[in-house]
Amino acid sequence: HPAGFKALLLVTLSSGSLVAYSDSQSETERVSLEQNQKEQKKKKVVVLGTGWAGTSFLKDIDVSSYDVQVVSPRNYFAFTPLLPSVTCGTVEARSIVEPVRNIIKKKNGEIQFFEAECLKIDAANNKVLCHSNLDQNLGGNGEFSLEYDYLVIAVGAQVNTFNTPGVRENCHFLKEVEDAQKIRASVIDSFEKAVLPGLSEEERKTCLHFVIVGGGPTGVEFAAELHDFIQEDLVTIYPMVKDLVRVTLIQSGDHILNMFDERISSFAEQKFQRDGIEVCTGCRVLGVSEKSLSVKVKSHGEVYSIPHGLVIWSTGVGTRPLVRDFIEQVGQGDRRALATNEWLRVKGSENVYALGDCATIDQRKIMEDILNIFKAADKDYSGTLTISEFQDVVDDILIRYPQVELYLKSKHLMDVTDLLRDPEGNERESVDIEGFKLALCQVDSQTKSLPATAQVAAQQGTYLSRCFNRRQQCQEHPEGPRRFSGSGQHRFRPFRYKHFGKFAPLGGEQAAAELPGDWVSMGHSTQWLWYSVYASKQVSWRTRVLVVSDWARRFIFGRDSSRI
Ligand code: FAD
Repeated sequence: HPAGFKALLLVTLSSGSLVAYSDSQSETERVSLEQNQKEQKKKKVVVLGTGWAGTSFLKDIDVSSYDVQVVSPRNYFAFTPLLPSVTCGTVEARSIVEPVRNIIKKKNGEIQFFEAECLKIDAANNKVLCHSNLDQNLGGNGEFSLEYDYLVIAVGAQVNTFNTPGVRENCHFLKEVEDAQKIRASVIDSFEKAVLPGLSEEERKTCLHFVIVGGGPTGVEFAAELHDFIQEDLVTIYPMVKDLVRVTLIQSGDHILNMFDERISSFAEQKFQRDGIEVCTGCRVLGVSEKSLSVKVKSHGEVYSIPHGLVIWSTGVGTRPLVRDFIEQVGQGDRRALATNEWLRVKGSENVYALGDCATIDQRKIMEDILNIFKAADKDYSGTLTISEFQDVVDDILIRYPQVELYLKSKHLMDVTDLLRDPEGNERESVDIEGFKLALCQVDSQTKSLPATAQVAAQQGTYLSRCFNRRQQCQEHPEGPRRFSGSGQHRFRPFRYKHFGKFAPLGGEQAAAELPGDWVSMGHSTQWLWYSVYASKQVSWRTRVLVVSDWARRFIFGRDSSRI
């Protein structure tokens, strides 16, 4: 019967499609179950900070293996090396920042970002307590907490006033983008104020006395930028006060740029002298008031007062309260930064990592380890090792602590391979290790922890994300050095810093650079090298185009002196 056939067909078709549907349903369920299991297996990583260290970690982390959440009070990354250029309008503030969401959108939206500040790390419960200013209704007071399996602390450092009275109230800092914008407005204000009617010449001079405290790279670069801004732009706009302007740089050490090669620091001092920038070395600032600074000359103890119109305080970095609190929690005592091992894991903690300016690789432990490596090799305590034993020891040390080789070479103490040969060049049979140990002891006292620079922070971020991404692989095939205590090998190679050199822009289209291999370069050509390096290091094509067009605009039209 056609109706019966129709019904049968319908039942057959529908049951067939039911079977097919239930097949595809079970397939979908299986896939989503697998996905759920994978998601559940995904470890939670919380990253604090979106500066150099935090963003370089985020750029490379594999989001298919980790559930990543980021917390930072700034929803952008700032290219700090160009901050001094923002203070004088050589480069605009927006040209050096990249929204964090632009960076994380490349990860298919799998990284969550929260614009908030972390207030406390609760390591015992694997939680961080955060606070957002944006929504005060969150839990009543804008607070929320996040759980983590791994925590990456990359919150950087804060300005260091050395508790000098009056600094917080009366000085400008140069740490954040907002600081640079405030300085730009204040410099213009000083000129506008100095040309107001009714001021005495002395008052105009005070308004136009710009004082920079700190002769490190930031202070020197700012002094140079300010001098260029004044000479190239402002004196033509304010010709009536051009002879009253003064720029003074105060430095507590004997030379400015004393972390650079001596040739660079004396080149900078001579250039500043020619430019009329007063450099006061060996002076300590005792206090700053609204109108003057009190300065002590260290050599003879004389204290004098300097009237000022604007002071920029740039004397290095100090510890953020969040980091200080965590240092206490993990029992690291009185330290400026969180001590980590060479794999960047915070000492005293199993699942917390620290990088960038808020961290330091613990050198004391390194020296202890080195001496233990010697002791283990020199089993009969004779003080000599055979050539092959010695080579093993040196390999072991250099794999773990590459900075030892850098240190020995940079200080011209010795080249380790020289120890293997006598003065005639013949291979020795055994090596007296005392001399070598002695040289190494100086590593302990003289090698400072890595410098607080963007280069170090960015390399640490990249290194750590690589370790996270290769966790499984390296579990099965460890790539690190032999374990000194215990058996087997470390899972990962320790962090190895590669130094690509450093720059000091000195104004007047001149710069100095210390490049790898003890190569020092100074002058106009170095400034062009600086332009090309800083353009290439921009985090995106957008900022690269903006920065280069700002430089071009400045060449053609000069800097903008409006107070916006
Ligand atoms: P930062 O880059 O400072 O980032 C810290 C991040 O943590 C920020 O996003 C911040 O908002 C966030 N944060 C802060 N507190 C919290 C919190 N409680 N919770 C969550 N997030 C938080 N280095 C060079 O190598 N070359 C240079 O030419 C150079 N020039 C410089 C010029 C200036 C003016 C300055 C200030 C620095 C310069 N540096 C330079 C140094 C370099 O900027 C720092 O070493 C680098 O920024 C350190 O990176 P970081 O990620 O550790 O910290």
